[in-house]
Amino acid sequence: MTQSCRHCGTPLTIEFLDLGHAPPSNAYLPPEGLARPELTYPLRLRACSDCRLVQTEDFAAADALFTEDYAYFSSTSRSWLDHAARYAEMITARLGLGPDSHVIEVASNDGYLLKNFVAAGIPCLGVEPTDSTAQAAEDLGIPVLRAFFGEEMAGDLPKADLIAGNNVYAHVPDINDFTRGLAAALKPQGVVTLEFPHLMRLVEFNQFDTVYHEHFSYLSLMAVERIMQAAGLRVFDVEELPTHGGSLRIYACLQGADHAQTGAVEALRAEEAARGMGEDAYYMAFQAKAETVKNDFLRFLLQARAEGKSVAGYGAAAKGNTLLNFGGVKPDLVSFVCDAAPSKQGKLLPGSHIPVLAPDVLRARRPDYLVIFPWNIGEEIRAQNADLAAQGTRFVTAVPDLRISE
Ligand SMILES: [Zn+2]
Repeated sequence: MTQSCRHCGTPLTIEFLDLGHAPPSNAYLPPEGLARPELTYPLRLRACSDCRLVQTEDFAAADALFTEDYAYFSSTSRSWLDHAARYAEMITARLGLGPDSHVIEVASNDGYLLKNFVAAGIPCLGVEPTDSTAQAAEDLGIPVLRAFFGEEMAGDLPKADLIAGNNVYAHVPDINDFTRGLAAALKPQGVVTLEFPHLMRLVEFNQFDTVYHEHFSYLSLMAVERIMQAAGLRVFDVEELPTHGGSLRIYACLQGADHAQTGAVEALRAEEAARGMGEDAYYMAFQAKAETVKNDFLRFLLQARAEGKSVAGYGAAAKGNTLLNFGGVKPDLVSFVCDAAPSKQGKLLPGSHIPVLAPDVLRARRPDYLVIFPWNIGEEIRAQNADLAAQGTRFVTAVPDLRISE
């Protein structure tokens, strides 16, 4: 049975990416987990030939995948906190927000963003379904409604001058209902800003390792404008951000609102069109690019193995798991992966079953090669491990293409 587009209902005939089967990217195994079967789910993306929304293929038992509580606390990342503080300052000035305004953040997490509005005396409300992060926000004095955001509940919210959504839009299963909810909760001149990874950069830089089950939609301006329009909204400004390998921040308002469209919208529309994002061929070419990256990475691992060189990894996160499982890599080729998070240490990566160890073992083991999986913070990791490089360890990144330091 052919799946229909989650936005426009067109049968999805374009295969964009097939990564085979993979376990949930955050399903780290305790060592005793090896005595049990491990669940894997198809990891395939299709593109809509009409609205150009790239989306995960539906699969059976998807609900079981999302019932577990993988709480991630945004405030653990210093650079993300800085990003949020700069945004709050910018948008407060741009929209002239003050004590009579109302700000809603969808997926407000642990309050990493809204605390800036509380500090400025601007009334706000977080919407967050995960209890542990919602509690952390409330401890900072931020009112939080524990709920999934959608049209039905949004109609009951106090109307907002600003609705912010950072890295939530790509993760919602029903993007139409979510978008109608945004329209329902806005004041007549209110503004929505959403940040999400830009599909154009994913394709340009071979970022297939940012694909995982919980990430339902892979978005272009082209697709988002269609989805917004169907919900009674329009995009009036867009910014390109460096976060997550290249993200967009779109500004939208109700169709009848006064916000004038900026030149940036027209410029990005033209760029997406010039790259072929309105044509099927653009989407059909990506699988081959992903396979080239995977094969080059495997060739490197096999050669290192043949030469008797040791290979370790850095960063036990979703990106690495997607790459390792697509390549079928096991501990014979990457003997361990280091991660600073104590909650992951002593566990095994899902699928590949590579052990996760504390970073300090790198000093004792001094691998010949260290593969850096989170390429978006590669610079930071190379700097932290400069002493290893001085003793002969070479750094490796697989995406966007295989790179080995001298
Ligand atoms: Zn569609």
